[in-house]
Amino acid sequence: MNVLVVGGAGYIGSHCVRQLLAAGHRPVVLDNLVFGHRAAVPADVPLYPANLGNEKEVGKILRKEKIELVMHFAAYAYVGESVTDPLKYYFNNVAATLHLLRCMLGAGVKKFVFSSTCATYGTPEKMPITEDTPQVPINPYGQTKLDMENTLKALARAYGLSFAAFRYFNAAGAAADGAIGEHHDPETHLIPLAFDAASGVRPPLQVFGTDYPTPDGTCLRDYVHVDDLSRAHIAVFDKLATPGAALFYNLGTGKPTSVLEVIKAVEKISGRKVPYVAAPRRAGDPPALYADATKARTELGWVIRYPDIESIVATAWKWHEAHPQGYAAP
Ligand code: UDP
Repeated sequence: MNVLVVGGAGYIGSHCVRQLLAAGHRPVVLDNLVFGHRAAVPADVPLYPANLGNEKEVGKILRKEKIELVMHFAAYAYVGESVTDPLKYYFNNVAATLHLLRCMLGAGVKKFVFSSTCATYGTPEKMPITEDTPQVPINPYGQTKLDMENTLKALARAYGLSFAAFRYFNAAGAAADGAIGEHHDPETHLIPLAFDAASGVRPPLQVFGTDYPTPDGTCLRDYVHVDDLSRAHIAVFDKLATPGAALFYNLGTGKPTSVLEVIKAVEKISGRKVPYVAAPRRAGDPPALYADATKARTELGWVIRYPDIESIVATAWKWHEAHPQGYAAP
């Protein structure tokens, strides 16, 4: 299929582009390159540096490239910033997505894959989290994603749009060949920060909260490899042939891993010590978040190739060693 990957120069989007190529599809990237990296997109994949607000241009791209399905990864995803500057998040994650959807429907493109998040669940009472767990986001970031999920349901009913919303747990890792990987500016994610602490280019890692009601007192998260995530997005294509399909899937390994366990894995893979200090809890961090992804496994035949934290960290370390400054330097 001809697939428009919006945000295809970003972390998850760029990995999805490579998986699309591997599966024999034809990806086309739309990315305004505010957070995306041109170098993350293969040279022979068309890249349009357009803004979603420019409906005329987006419509033209959809028609010119004969797009059949759109995957949408372009969103702001800093939870803390979403609390201090919610307007920015509503404009980018909701308003811009509405522009995109209007362009799609105008051009007759009715298949959509949306990146949602486990942040839509807030602080659930029960673990693991299934798709039926009540969605009660505790920050504007999670709320914007939930708002879009609900909007998509209405569009499916009214216009026959078929969509899948994937609720990611903690995306991590890098392409197996080390060619592309994770590079955020600013970087706030645990694994890249642990690498930088181990390499001495940043101060010791702060462990946010050591008094959580978890086995070692630190937060439990479900780290899932970015290529595993990407393959689920492609596995859903057949289901989107049904007009009005409205699909929701958790994507996680189902394995809770603590911050200290991540640090241990980084030390083992890198062969270096990760200097760290105990720091206060980070606002908005629930003690534990991990998925029950049975639905994706059974309905999509989704197979997790990186089931444990060490195999995930190993790919991220390969990328980090080859690109210590990310995309900023060779
Ligand atoms: N974390 C930490 N120190 C850091 C960054 C993250 O202790 O410098 C913890 C954070 O509290 C959470 C886990 O690592 O429990 C994963 O955080 P990350 O920011 O990577 O992803 P998030 O869960 O926020 O999407």
